[in-house]
Amino acid sequence: MHDYIIVGAGSAGCVLANRLSADPAISVCLLEAGPKDNFELIHTPGAFGFFMFSKKYDWCFEAKPDPAVRKGQPMFCPRGKALGGSSSVNGMVYTRGHRSDYDEWAELGNPGWGYDEVLPYFRKAEANARGADRYHGANGPLYVSDSELHYTISKVFIEAAQQAGMPMSNDFNGEQYEGFGPYQFTIRDGRRCSAAVAYLHPVKSRKNLQVKTGVDVIGVEFDGKHAVGVTYDRGGKHTTVRARREVILSAGAYCTPQLLMLSGVGDPDELRAQRIEVVHALPGVGKNLQEHFDAAVLVKSKDHGGITISAKGAAQMGVAGVKYYGAHLGKLRSSVTEAGGFLKTDPSLAKPDVQFHTVPLLFDDSGRDLKLMMDPGYSMHVCCLRPKSRGSIGLASAHWEHAPVIDHNYFSHPDDLKCLVAGVKLARKILATPAFEPYRKEELHPGEDKQGDEEIAQAIKDRLGIVYHPVGTCKMGNDEMAVVDAQLRVHGMRGLRVIDASIMPTLNGSNTNAPTIMIAEKAADMILAGT
Ligand SMILES: Cc1cc2nc3c(=O)[nH]c(=O)nc-3n(C[C@H](O)[C@H](O)[C@H](O)COP(=O)(O)OP(=O)(O)OC[C@H]3O[C@@H](n4cnc5c(N)ncnc54)[C@H](O)[C@@H]3O)c2cc1C
Repeated sequence: MHDYIIVGAGSAGCVLANRLSADPAISVCLLEAGPKDNFELIHTPGAFGFFMFSKKYDWCFEAKPDPAVRKGQPMFCPRGKALGGSSSVNGMVYTRGHRSDYDEWAELGNPGWGYDEVLPYFRKAEANARGADRYHGANGPLYVSDSELHYTISKVFIEAAQQAGMPMSNDFNGEQYEGFGPYQFTIRDGRRCSAAVAYLHPVKSRKNLQVKTGVDVIGVEFDGKHAVGVTYDRGGKHTTVRARREVILSAGAYCTPQLLMLSGVGDPDELRAQRIEVVHALPGVGKNLQEHFDAAVLVKSKDHGGITISAKGAAQMGVAGVKYYGAHLGKLRSSVTEAGGFLKTDPSLAKPDVQFHTVPLLFDDSGRDLKLMMDPGYSMHVCCLRPKSRGSIGLASAHWEHAPVIDHNYFSHPDDLKCLVAGVKLARKILATPAFEPYRKEELHPGEDKQGDEEIAQAIKDRLGIVYHPVGTCKMGNDEMAVVDAQLRVHGMRGLRVIDASIMPTLNGSNTNAPTIMIAEKAADMILAGT
């Protein structure tokens, strides 16, 4: 018997395990389906692409195919599966979004979640290498450092944005969200600072914290409407562990709603269709899926020392490996997406509506299009920051081994595609500047012949990607589709909270790791305060 059982040791779960077990009188059990994170490549920032192929450390989900998108091929949806969860496989970009993203959460009926109220939790989490100021913390567990700009083309991207007349920012999380520049990263001394590294490893010897890896939680146990424990599978054997106070679901925006539904909490019609007994009717479970859809401009180039799948590329990687594994020096210290930013596709907008990630290679299909990467090139990825389309997570069956059905419902709102078309045009404006002159060879995608809005839109659909930011599938709020209240307690139930990216009512306008860690920091405070 434990006071708290946390399901999922990802970005949120690691924070909760640390903060709740800080009181030796509170016992905590953290259950993770994936393995430990002692594999060297997890900690090597430049090895990001490896995990797109690893079924051991990634769930490797695929979304429901849509004939109108990716020519009917399913969208690859990676998710971390190890201590640290997605923070152990992510791109490490540290951004938070615009202050109004959080004010909107509060306006939607979630008191306590406005920007001024969440900022202290971003600061509490953070140890920014630049030191503390109004926006940043210096004493938190999560190390945040500046980009070292190892790739020539990253510097070219910044120079080009300047030449194109774009605003510049050297701190997207401070005074100036809008602009282009180098990102900050959750990297410390050339090593990934995942949520496990920041929050879990330093406290793993606490006697009141039990961490189990390789356990798939297959259901929440209820006494009426009260969550009293969970059952997990390990190698075919089922074990039930009981919670004295609460069960906390932190399995992420795909797996948390799936687990709730498998446990009998969800839309009654959908549960009955899978012959699952309804414990509690909550129609919003799995609905409201939001994601950053991503379009890319891919340019074949002269060699610029970027990443290629070629004999020369392999030799360069060999040298990078020797430098890195000798003294943690060189390119592998860095994320591949070193620069980017937040821009407005229309100057009359109140805030930026697109984000850019620049990459020193021809990066498509999550880096799984290896043939494309044989030539030197660079890519400018653009995503629509506040999509209006809403998708869902459903059940393929009542069996926990079956992956959830991820339905993005792409471009169900036409504004999202319009936003991406405008974003591609903005990217082209930057790529057309003199800064790129020495490198540019040929635009491979959308392709120089695609200039009209409709042609660009079709090209975007044909090669659409995502930025791996699913949120919203157990949204916080007080309307009939809300799953949790502002304390993140599941509506209508006792002893059950959801604390992870799935509780966001709307997608923040940036990457989602720092916001998820903020959510868990704030939730831990609420739990410890008895609310
Ligand atoms: C490839 C990739 C790149 C990304 N790049 C960035 C980036 O550069 N910057 C950024 O800010 N964000 C990035 N993100 C997004 C960010 O990492 C996530 O938003 C964040 O980690 C989500 O945290 P979470 O706690 O909700 O879920 P996760 O961190 O995914 O944690 C969920 C955990 O629950 C476990 N789990 C699931 N089901 C079960 C079960 N039934 N039983 C037991 N355990 C279970 C999983 O294995 C996982 O460890 C990226 C994500 C990916 C996948």
